[in-house]
Amino acid sequence: MSDPFRRSARVGAVELSEILTISERAAALKREGRDVITLGTGEPDFPTPAHVVEAAHRAALAGETTYTLTVGTIALREAIAAAAGREGGDRPDLAEIIVCTGAKQVLYNAFAATLDPGDEVLIPAPYWTSYPDIVTVCGGRPVALPTTAAGGFRITPGQLAAAIGPRTRWLLLNSPSNPAGAVYAPDDLEALAEVLRAAPHVGIMVDEIYQHICYVPFRSFRAVAPDLADRTLIVNGVSKSHAMTGWRIGWGIGPRRLIAAMLAVQSQITSGASSVSQAAAVAALEGDRQFLAERCDDFRARRDRLAAALNATGILDCPSADGAFYLFPACAAAFGRSSGRGRRIENDGDFCEALLEEEGVALVPGRAFGTPGHVRLSYAYSRASLDEAATRIARFCAELR
Ligand code: PLP
Repeated sequence: MSDPFRRSARVGAVELSEILTISERAAALKREGRDVITLGTGEPDFPTPAHVVEAAHRAALAGETTYTLTVGTIALREAIAAAAGREGGDRPDLAEIIVCTGAKQVLYNAFAATLDPGDEVLIPAPYWTSYPDIVTVCGGRPVALPTTAAGGFRITPGQLAAAIGPRTRWLLLNSPSNPAGAVYAPDDLEALAEVLRAAPHVGIMVDEIYQHICYVPFRSFRAVAPDLADRTLIVNGVSKSHAMTGWRIGWGIGPRRLIAAMLAVQSQITSGASSVSQAAAVAALEGDRQFLAERCDDFRARRDRLAAALNATGILDCPSADGAFYLFPACAAAFGRSSGRGRRIENDGDFCEALLEEEGVALVPGRAFGTPGHVRLSYAYSRASLDEAATRIARFCAELR
């Protein structure tokens, strides 16, 4: 008998993310009393700034607890428009902005609104694990564009030109990137824009959620290629910059017809984002910005310390990263060897499993990001945790035979 709850073809191809699987295994080991350090999750260890929390509290007490406009409050869209204007692009109209329940929903709305079965989305790899799965759930076909450490984990204009075909609907760029911390400089973006000018059937989605955690000058794609604004959707939010992952506020800036289509999707899933969180996000965008630079400096110091420790293992080959809070070293030098307790290591998954079981350090294998042979570490953790993790990783690597 056929199961009424069999998965649809679209969802059948999607699995729980490997990041979650690792977190669950790490949690199980902790329950057994093991001392486990998780460098797996992608969220800042800072608290949400007090003035942001206070704004939410005030809004709730003032009765801002009802449905908001589905597209987002005027106050928040004004604040987003002002921020986008400050950063060098044209100030968008309010009708060119949609507020969503996290940046993730911006992606979902856009793909659900535009993809037909078989439509292709070009995604540079390594990519954030959710990108291909969201495309798949929306009926599209993710097409990975591989990059290398030597090339700074960035696609080249030639590679993009060769990948664009008649079924290509979107290019999805992420800068600064998760997991490699790659940043496209203005010249890189301009060179890609030149290719895209010759492909008018392709939309350009640029996920700039790590904009404020960037160790080289950041420039938005909107500012680099304003002539492509009619085909560009910028994805951004407060989750990473303001340590607000739990508040679930992200937004998209794009042409009106796309925003209207995304709004139609959103109106049938979540309606507007949380009223109180939107009030908090206004305070985040309009309040003190000094702390963003301070936090960025703090992340940079952690990056340098951890990258040096990883490279000193002689096994992990760790390029630096220009943004976000991840390192993405190659672990291929461990392949063909056995761990201290005799686990054979043939790939990045084996490496992560042995490291977790033997030293209690949870990392995510590169295959989860479409780039096997690497591991991802988040350094959004306390220095004490990072130092202890580095000591354990060094011991694990020293024992490989
Ligand atoms: N985009 C990238 C590249 C991310 O790494 C993440 C979260 O890890 C998101 C978007 C999701 O952001 P949000 O929590 O606002 O949905």
